[in-house]
Amino acid sequence: MDVRPGDILQMKKPHPCGSKEFLVLRSGMDFKIRCQGCGREVMVPRLKCEKNIKKILRENIQDEH
Ligand SMILES: [Zn+2]
Repeated sequence: MDVRPGDILQMKKPHPCGSKEFLVLRSGMDFKIRCQGCGREVMVPRLKCEKNIKKILRENIQDEH
């Protein structure tokens, strides 16, 4: 899955604060993401994170399949 810093991830499972949207700060083996509801930053293993992604929200998507 193509996840880039700056993307907003819409998750299947919400953060405890209720928000389902997370901003990607860093990608790699682990993703560093920031909850858009409470602002908390978390490191999540890539695989675990990808399983939880419902949708990637990105401005100016040109290459969506
Ligand atoms: Zn939160």
